[in-house]
Amino acid sequence: MDAMTSLGFTPAVGDTDLTPRQRELLALANELGRTRFAPRAAQWDETATFPFANYEDLRAAGLLALCVPRDQGGGGADYATYMMAAAEIGRFCGATALTWNMHISSTLWTGVLADGIPMTEDERAEHTRRRQRHFARVVDDGAIYAQPFSEGSAAAAGRAPFGTTARKVDGGWIVNGRKIFASLSGAADYYGILCTEDKPGSRPDPRDTLYLAVPASSDGFAISGDWNPLGMRGTVSRNLTFTEVFVPDDEQLMPRGVYHRGAQTWPAMFFTLAPTYLGLANAAYDFTVQYLRGEVPGEPPVRRRMYPTKQIAVAQMRIQLETLRSLFLRAIREARPNPSKDERMRLYAAQYTVMEGANDIARLAIRTCGGQGMMKHLPLERIYRDSRCGSLMLPWTAELVLDRMGREALYEPGERDEA
Ligand SMILES: Cc1cc2nc3c(=O)[nH]c(=O)nc-3n(C[C@H](O)[C@H](O)[C@H](O)COP(=O)(O)OP(=O)(O)OC[C@H]3O[C@@H](n4cnc5c(N)ncnc54)[C@H](O)[C@@H]3O)c2cc1C
Repeated sequence: MDAMTSLGFTPAVGDTDLTPRQRELLALANELGRTRFAPRAAQWDETATFPFANYEDLRAAGLLALCVPRDQGGGGADYATYMMAAAEIGRFCGATALTWNMHISSTLWTGVLADGIPMTEDERAEHTRRRQRHFARVVDDGAIYAQPFSEGSAAAAGRAPFGTTARKVDGGWIVNGRKIFASLSGAADYYGILCTEDKPGSRPDPRDTLYLAVPASSDGFAISGDWNPLGMRGTVSRNLTFTEVFVPDDEQLMPRGVYHRGAQTWPAMFFTLAPTYLGLANAAYDFTVQYLRGEVPGEPPVRRRMYPTKQIAVAQMRIQLETLRSLFLRAIREARPNPSKDERMRLYAAQYTVMEGANDIARLAIRTCGGQGMMKHLPLERIYRDSRCGSLMLPWTAELVLDRMGREALYEPGERDEA
């Protein structure tokens, strides 16, 4: 076994410097993950149902309000601290970590991230007032937020305006449109959607993106479609439709025009899906070591560790895991508004490496453990399927990250080739 850190276990982010608050949170995430989430993970996967019981535990532990500022009654965790805790949860249940990310992002983006987005005084005052309502729902009522952006178009890739629209009316907005892959569908109390302001006489423009919380109880809101995917089955990411849905003004999660500014200012906001997959990579590695040592509970104590090819594969997995951890840690520690070009490149590199690497480590784990290791009663085949979905996540799919890195490496802002 690995040498233990003073935490009593090696966290998914590795044996690294941690603040006392981070240590406390990682210990909590590990305890919940090991004793509650891991034993339940197969059940959500098999039935493709939402992990409600895990959300009860997250709520009771104060983890639904982790990123709500302390002076609003929340946990006050910063970006890096959240990212570390999410990786620890991903180690035990991918679907719980991924959906928790959608919920937490709704408080993180409107909280510490919004603090770093330029706003006018009026915008700041409006935002401060509105986010208090939304934080109070999470802190006092244990409300759950989803984050459905995807529409199956170029919008979630950041290349077109969202097709879902919001028309201004007295006291609020009328929303029309459709979202796909809405994780937490049927479980969330609010759906934090991105949509385009429908301005009479002007063409749809991504600068007019609105970020609105649509209450699940709204008239004209509906959930549809099957959910029977390869992996991350517990996320229950079905389709949403909005037909003339009235959303009150105070449900704006950011003032008009601020989301677009935020996306430009804070690229690290799109990196929050990665910790789930670092956790999955760690889980594949942990399982392989345990399995080859003949120490998986309930399995025959057959050792396979003496074969050189298996030792080499474990070494390769560990090298990859350390690469993932290093890039991940550096990216979360230097995340800030308006990063330098090198910082942005490292962020992309970290996203690509974690999302592709997690599935590669799981692939090696399956090959190395062999046929008996991929049986359904063991977690490895689920980890393999869950980890496959990471590099498909917009806006930073593996393809789009390569695209951005290549372009931004070769072109400075404003540079063009002669026609
Ligand atoms: C388990 C799971 C949970 C999810 N949960 C959520 C969620 O909670 N909220 C949410 O918003 N989304 C969620 N998603 C959706 C995810 O982020 C992607 O939007 C989705 O996987 C894209 O599927 P697609 O078939 O539309 O992809 P694609 O067809 O690959 O992408 C959609 C469009 O993006 C553009 N595009 C894609 N790749 C490129 C490229 N290389 N170059 C140029 N343009 C490109 C194209 O216009 C394309 O038509 C989830 C996905 C999964 C698998």
